[in-house]
Amino acid sequence: MRNSLEDTKFILKKYHITANKKLGQNFLINDEVINGIVEASNIQKEDLVIEIGPGLGTLTSELLENAGKVIAIELDENMIPILNDRFKLYDNFELLNEDVLKVDLNKLISENMGGLSKAKVVANLPYYITTPIIMKLLEDKLNIESITVMVQKEVADRITAKPGDKLSGSITYSVDYYAEAEKIVFVDKSSFIPAPEVDSEVIKLQIREEPKVHVENEELFFKVIKASFMQRRKTLLNGLNNSGIIKDKESLKEILQKLGLSVDIRGEKLTIEQFAELSNLIDKTI
Ligand code: SAM
Repeated sequence: MRNSLEDTKFILKKYHITANKKLGQNFLINDEVINGIVEASNIQKEDLVIEIGPGLGTLTSELLENAGKVIAIELDENMIPILNDRFKLYDNFELLNEDVLKVDLNKLISENMGGLSKAKVVANLPYYITTPIIMKLLEDKLNIESITVMVQKEVADRITAKPGDKLSGSITYSVDYYAEAEKIVFVDKSSFIPAPEVDSEVIKLQIREEPKVHVENEELFFKVIKASFMQRRKTLLNGLNNSGIIKDKESLKEILQKLGLSVDIRGEKLTIEQFAELSNLIDKTI
């Protein structure tokens, strides 16, 4: 029977390791949560799993039992001998001592798909770079089916918010463009050693076959969304006007009228479809 609390304490002692706060090291010690992550990610023997930040290998060990192959990417060199010792008997384990933000994930996945059918990302993410990692995984347009990750509860709330919700932000729309997001399970602080300051949530992003909306100019689409949320208390008109994206206020007023939107509307009230139409019309004027 696995006991991730005892395993974690044993490994920390054996290798004289203390968690590195700067690297966002909070090790999972809750077996139910680990089972929940593995179940939600629906890992099969035909799957290639990319794990970000394996740490001491608690989640890795379960992934290895279920997947065809696991490639774990860990920045902290202190974890490397621990992981290599722990998984030396597994021939489906590969470890990269790298910063995930610098890895060419498209290349890594295509080079390792041989004999496997789907790629999935699974991780208990380091919280100091949660958003950049998620956005890289999406923007790189990887050939992956899903991303199942533990994130701070606040980030989970933002990602899964509905347009118009108080919690929605530019990440809500950016993620929705690429993936369907759902919350899997709430995870209390006490599920980690050391306990983080905030609670967490496991979320699953199911990658869409095609982006949710059609946009002529993706870069502009994301710029428009970011500018609309940069100054939340301003109207969309003023937010975009201050961003320098549009030529002049009058042309934007005309665009808003064309879309049947009030000139006083705030960005957070728009649906992703409306953001797409808005950026497509702005694209024609610049
Ligand atoms: N997976 C382990 C678990 O669940 O117990 C550890 C999770 S801990 C929250 C995050 C892990 O990500 C740490 O092991 C940390 O060293 C690693 N990490 C931090 N920054 C990273 C980066 N830029 N690239 C890869 N791994 C990173």
